[in-house]
Amino acid sequence: MRGTTILVVEDEKPILELICKYLAAEGFNVVTAPDGVAALAQARATQPALIVLDVMLPGMDGLEVCRRIQQESDVYILMLTARTEEIDKIVGLSVGADDYLTKPFSPRELVARIKAILRRSRAVAAGSGRDAPQDRTLRFDNLTINPDTREVYLNDTPVELTAREFDLLYALAEYPGRVFNRDQLLERVWGHDFAGIDRVVDVHIGLLRRKLEIDAADPMLIQTVRGVGYKFVARKTS
Ligand code: CA
Repeated sequence: MRGTTILVVEDEKPILELICKYLAAEGFNVVTAPDGVAALAQARATQPALIVLDVMLPGMDGLEVCRRIQQESDVYILMLTARTEEIDKIVGLSVGADDYLTKPFSPRELVARIKAILRRSRAVAAGSGRDAPQDRTLRFDNLTINPDTREVYLNDTPVELTAREFDLLYALAEYPGRVFNRDQLLERVWGHDFAGIDRVVDVHIGLLRRKLEIDAADPMLIQTVRGVGYKFVARKTS
């Protein structure tokens, strides 16, 4: 993880400096932005692996910054918020950040969360095969999921997924037919308990269905198992 670029977006200088100090001590390459417009420019210029993004920023707020960045890249985003009422928005439909911390937070906790996100993304990218390179692409009748390139094709057409949507789809599709409950999916994809907001799983399932299903109201690929959770249903072609 040393050398991994992290963009920190925060206008309050003492907090920014504190975060930078801790991240630099872990060997991360830290870049910063004091507001939303600068954050968008920095994200494009430096292509960070992860962005620490404060909600309260002058001008364009962090929620809008998050939305815009998600539209153009699949970078992981961890949001900082001082208000618990923002959490629903942050993890929910309109923004879809990967994780959040409420202020005041411990810098150690922030570092731990960042490492957890990066480890998971690497685990998905690296898969189980450590030795010979192997094709780990999951192929189904009309759906192809490649964990190395993180590309998804539906009927040979590329599907744009956010990083989190991809991780959730891969977690389900790796074991077709297996039923996962929400806690298992939270653990596998988000990696820690979202303090009871297990609706975040439902929200992301909804987003995936809109992108992958012919009729999101009558899903064929990702099915609800009433009272339990979700399962991926597709025939493997290879
Ligand atoms: Ca701020």
